[in-house]
Amino acid sequence: MRCAVVAVGTELLLGQIVDTNSSWMGEQLAANGIDSLIQYKVGDNQKRIVDVLRAALRDADAVIMCGGLGPTHDDLTREAIAEVMGVPLEMHDDLADVIRQIFESRGRRMPDNNLQQAMVPRGAEPIRQTRGTAPGLVCPVGDKVVYAVPGVPHEMHDMVERVILPDLRRRGGDTSVIVSRVIRTWGESESGLNERLDGVIAELESAGNPTLAFLASGWEGLKVRLTAKGPTADAARTLIATWQAKVEEHVGDFVFGYDTDTMESVVLDRLRHRGWSLGLAESVTGGLVSGRLTAIPGASETLRGSIVSYASDVKFEVLGVPEGPVVSERAAIAMADGARRVLGADVGLSLTGVAGPAEQDGQPVGTLWVGIALPGATTTATVFRMPGQRDQMRQMSVISALDLLRRRLS
Ligand code: ATP
Ligand code: MG
Repeated sequence: MRCAVVAVGTELLLGQIVDTNSSWMGEQLAANGIDSLIQYKVGDNQKRIVDVLRAALRDADAVIMCGGLGPTHDDLTREAIAEVMGVPLEMHDDLADVIRQIFESRGRRMPDNNLQQAMVPRGAEPIRQTRGTAPGLVCPVGDKVVYAVPGVPHEMHDMVERVILPDLRRRGGDTSVIVSRVIRTWGESESGLNERLDGVIAELESAGNPTLAFLASGWEGLKVRLTAKGPTADAARTLIATWQAKVEEHVGDFVFGYDTDTMESVVLDRLRHRGWSLGLAESVTGGLVSGRLTAIPGASETLRGSIVSYASDVKFEVLGVPEGPVVSERAAIAMADGARRVLGADVGLSLTGVAGPAEQDGQPVGTLWVGIALPGATTTATVFRMPGQRDQMRQMSVISALDLLRRRLS
């Protein structure tokens, strides 16, 4: 099964947006054992879209088009497909009703233009929309197929995963099921992880199934993704579980979570599990840690609050930090104890550091002290040397501090 991708949108050609949809699709096709044959980008011009679609159909068995399904005059994907199929567009009343309902449920009037999105080339099947207003399309062209999905990434992801990949695999005669698992790590470099997993990777390469990929995700750490194919979902899951155990044996407690877990969700889970509440004292991160934690639904069960003690005298007066250098072990310990006491929390976490541009108290830019106060234990502080400029330093500080707390709670 050979598949081409056509990304539609003049913005793509002008460099106004980066075509991340095509790279995501290439990755999905490869993971599903479908040949990713060629990718095109074309502007919002019906003649050129038609030309590109015809060229794509010459060589590929299937074409996925993304973008240009919206309601405006420059959304031409539907028209171009109908032209290539040699059929008219027909109104689908049930699609029109769904679009109307979406507007009603948001309390908004539907512009007439939006009915464009209920037009389907004769002989094509719509892909039900679950997120946006634009349905996708499955369009037979001879013994080949053209799919169309919206350009908005999350709408596109949903339709590709739910309908297009299974359909492509079925057409390719593949009845197997694919399951993947993302193992999330923090604290080890990509080359470091690679080295630890050398043996496992070699074994996997000769086995061929599952496959393993590293996904570097910046401040969110490094992801190790296992993708397994099996005759049934259970068989694929069993295979993944075996290899996941081998990966973890070598990567150890650099692993902080799986799939949709985040560092903050994992830390909150561990605190909740122990029945402990958390109080924060943030200096260098200015509230970023509490911002991340409060983004998790249900954080209020665990998080008491955060004191953004940015000025030194706030550290002294509110948190009881002794006078002296405020980027220090002593200050971090006093801040963690102070957060615990002032906020009435079981656990105190503090961050004090130098984000730059200039050094402070003789401490270089990138210095971070993290204090942790736990029930029944002596309060301790740990120093980190963060890389990067101000923004990177602060973001890395958030995840490093949460990771330290995660390890202390395990
Ligand atoms: P809509 O119904 O929202 O108009 P559409 O199918 O017409 O959807 P476009 O108008 O082409 O899609 O794109 C909508 C938005 O989706 C763009 O503004 C852009 O943010 C994003 N987008 C579109 N194409 C891509 C792409 N190839 N890669 C990444 N993002 C994209
Ligand atoms: Mg559009």
